[in-house]
Amino acid sequence: MNSRVVAVVGGGISGCECSFLIASWGFRVDLYEMKPKRFSEAHKSEKLGELVCSNSLKSKNPNSPQGLLKEEMKRFGSLIIEAAENTAIPAGDSLSVDRDLFSEYITNRLLSMENVKVIREEVLSFEDLFDKYDAIVIATGPLTAPDSVASLKRMIGNSDLLYFYDAISPIVTFESIDMSKAFFGSRYKKGGDDYINCPLTEKEYKDLYDAIVNAELIESHINEDLKFFEGCLPIEEIARRGYKSLLFGPFKPVGLGFSKNDMAYGVVQLRAENRARTLYSIVSFQTRMKYGYQEKVLRMIPALKNCEIVRYGQMHRNIYVDSPTVLSKDLTLKNNSKFFLTGTLTGVEGYTEAAASGIITAISVVSYLKGREFIPPPDMTAMGLLYRYVIGEISMGREFKPTNINKGLFLHNGAKRYSEKMAYRAVREIDRYSRAFYDGKS
Ligand SMILES: Cc1cc2nc3c(=O)[nH]c(=O)nc-3n(C[C@H](O)[C@H](O)[C@H](O)COP(=O)(O)OP(=O)(O)OC[C@H]3O[C@@H](n4cnc5c(N)ncnc54)[C@H](O)[C@@H]3O)c2cc1C
Repeated sequence: MNSRVVAVVGGGISGCECSFLIASWGFRVDLYEMKPKRFSEAHKSEKLGELVCSNSLKSKNPNSPQGLLKEEMKRFGSLIIEAAENTAIPAGDSLSVDRDLFSEYITNRLLSMENVKVIREEVLSFEDLFDKYDAIVIATGPLTAPDSVASLKRMIGNSDLLYFYDAISPIVTFESIDMSKAFFGSRYKKGGDDYINCPLTEKEYKDLYDAIVNAELIESHINEDLKFFEGCLPIEEIARRGYKSLLFGPFKPVGLGFSKNDMAYGVVQLRAENRARTLYSIVSFQTRMKYGYQEKVLRMIPALKNCEIVRYGQMHRNIYVDSPTVLSKDLTLKNNSKFFLTGTLTGVEGYTEAAASGIITAISVVSYLKGREFIPPPDMTAMGLLYRYVIGEISMGREFKPTNINKGLFLHNGAKRYSEKMAYRAVREIDRYSRAFYDGKS
């Protein structure tokens, strides 16, 4: 075993992925996780690799950017994808998991590695780790604990961290759903009858819409602009964009097996949360309504008239750094090359993207420890595009905002549309790249 030791701070999605790859190269990893001594406002489980909101890692179709990213990650033995595939629950085209089994899988896999030590401690100051480790990876995520936020700020030269607001969806018990007013089915018959669909008539939609736009909201206690992530807007924000915005978005009725003349006006979809199918979350119903209003609004959906909510929707403030300004090309801090950043802190958004970022950072850490030049994943691969976005080689808009993997990133070099051919080429490129990375590993 190699004598060099790496500290990874944060046992979430990116930290677990990053630790796993570094450890698989034989380096020792001390993985610091503050739970269960301290929980952020969204984390609830003691286990590592917790999914804080939806239990979906999105599409597994290898021709979509999301599916392609997963294919690429598998070339590096991704722990997160392995865990997801082993704890998957049916959800049509999407890779959805039983969240408890998923985290348990990750925790057990890391604990079974003899060169990984999981230290259940909150790191108050990253600077204190400097002398103890050969490299330090900061993977503390969008809800980094307050003391370490202060430390991170100091390390990036006391400049402000960036932020955005994000919300989570409510979860209800299956037992409390009136299945005489709902039906199982999958949009466009992708997969089995994996979703519960709650149809709405035109009048029911109108009443629900009015209640959503007039619901009382929990206000942020900080006086600042509520910047939301466009890909995960609270339902009330989507509704405010127009009367029909929900019908073209989360409540879209098409593709659910109705004939054109027999289509519901709108459909609210629910996805199983666990293998036992005792809990269901409401798809895209992330909200910051006051709890009483959430109950009132959900109970206006006929099938949810008596629903029992076991987790309410909530809003959170997510932080990230201005990566193009503060990070070097090898993902280290510009003013301290022993500190690497990874995960959503660097400006990627989504579980799969956070894990992919963990892999890219691990490749950089391994290269550093091996005394090799860090070669980033090739352009026009999903991993390469995320990397290039983070370090500022590709931009979208004037401000640096978090991004998930999307078709738009593939068009940065002038291509007019994303195509399956691009996905095919990307896999070939990543195959070549991963072979070069693993070359020389005993
Ligand atoms: C409320 C909310 C809802 C979200 N919903 C979704 C969703 O539905 N789908 C999706 O794809 N993405 C979602 N995201 C975005 C993102 O994909 C997840 O937050 C993802 O878990 C981020 O991975 P990460 O590794 O960067 O951070 P995390 O997974 O949050 O991991 C960070 C870990 O670091 C630990 N930690 C923090 N500070 C310290 C410290 N000082 N010392 C030791 N340990 C520390 C935390 O306890 C945590 O375990 C959501 C984010 C939030 C905040």
